[in-house]
Amino acid sequence: MDCIFCEIKSDVYENDSFIVVKDINPKAEIHFLIIPKKHIESISHLEPEDKDLMGKMMLIAQKVAKDKGIESYNLQINVGRKAGQVIDHIHMHLLSGKKLCH
Ligand code: 5GP
Ligand code: ZN
Repeated sequence: MDCIFCEIKSDVYENDSFIVVKDINPKAEIHFLIIPKKHIESISHLEPEDKDLMGKMMLIAQKVAKDKGIESYNLQINVGRKAGQVIDHIHMHLLSGKKLCH
């Protein structure tokens, strides 16, 4: 399978189920991606068995924000091309600070 998020190396945080990286093309001063190691294409492809993993994803966001001293932030998950999803492996954006325009 050819999936960049199945191969990506962590540069922010990692545990047995998740990788957190800095977005290569940040849209805000702080822009992390929280990526489960399990390959799931999108929220549309979730199965009931994934509910614990998705709960853990929220706790990873909380932990990374706390560890980095980030008080206020947005969490965003894009689902489908028309909503801006370009990588077909579930990931959640953690954004904070001034928005960056490209
Ligand atoms: P999506 O648009 O699918 O929700 O988000 C994909 C995100 O992944 C984009 O914000 C894009 O900048 C980021 N991205 C794409 N390729 C790479 C990569 O190789 N490394 C990192 N760190 N981020 C990437
Ligand atoms: Zn993948």
